[in-house]
Amino acid sequence: MIIGSHVHFGKDQFLGSVKEAISYGANALMLYTGAPQNTLRSPILLNYLDEGKKLMAENNIVMDNVICHAPYIINLANKEKIEAWNFSISFLKGEIKRCEEMGIKYIVLHPGSAVKHTKEEGINNIIEALNYLDLDHSKCMILLETMAGKGSECGCKMEEIKQILNGVNSSNIGVCLDTCHLNDAGYDMSKFDEYLDTFTKEIGLDKIRCIHINDSKNLINTHKDRHANIGLGTIGFDTIKMIVNNEKLKDVPKILETPYINKEDNEKELMYPPYKFEIEMLKKGEFNPHLIDDIREYYK
Ligand code: FE
Ligand code: FE
Ligand code: ZN
Repeated sequence: MIIGSHVHFGKDQFLGSVKEAISYGANALMLYTGAPQNTLRSPILLNYLDEGKKLMAENNIVMDNVICHAPYIINLANKEKIEAWNFSISFLKGEIKRCEEMGIKYIVLHPGSAVKHTKEEGINNIIEALNYLDLDHSKCMILLETMAGKGSECGCKMEEIKQILNGVNSSNIGVCLDTCHLNDAGYDMSKFDEYLDTFTKEIGLDKIRCIHINDSKNLINTHKDRHANIGLGTIGFDTIKMIVNNEKLKDVPKILETPYINKEDNEKELMYPPYKFEIEMLKKGEFNPHLIDDIREYYK
């Protein structure tokens, strides 16, 4: 099973990300090249990159299973303020360069929110922006993430993703599924095989290069986008277990983006990463009813 989680990209950059992934028993990882909420980026430090790659090799982690996630505030769908739209495009160009420099092959991108545009206009803006990226000449593939449909988000329906892919002038573009988002967008994850069959027919299975594995705090079709820990949400452990073991997606990296755990029940601050324990559960194929307690015990 190729499985990991999102990890930090801090002072020691790539080396720290790899170390963190290894501490969870992961063989895949997803990083942001800076803070997920902003676009401040410092140059890639090559010594940490080399050391990180060495550590990866020692732990049998391959570059195909390292994913980058673009920051949330990039919005290719909204052209209302043309400077902001242009900035999103040039930031993405820089992100592609940074990833090429690091040897990362995949960048996950939220397609964007239409805001005051119609969805149709939003989708056309996304296509136009992606066509400025010259993806045919990039070593890095952009992966459009399937969204929950919160607010005016584009890309929550399979048809919308298909429309964007068809509009882009390069085949060097793929898809990242997100189980929480799919649930919230109205797709029944207990019928995941049906979803995959339709996806195969409509878009093509080979387009799926990453899958975010999250449970959901909300019922199907609620368009909320609040992730829950594995087995503690509305999708449930058995369905998620079935998805991560799907034969057709066995080579696709599975990335957890589930919430951190608080120290105690009423504590506001979420401190402890759940990934080591969630990965363990999914590898074993057995739900751990003491998940939260075990995590608190381990990190305290
Ligand atoms: Fe995302
Ligand atoms: Fe996600
Ligand atoms: Zn989400």
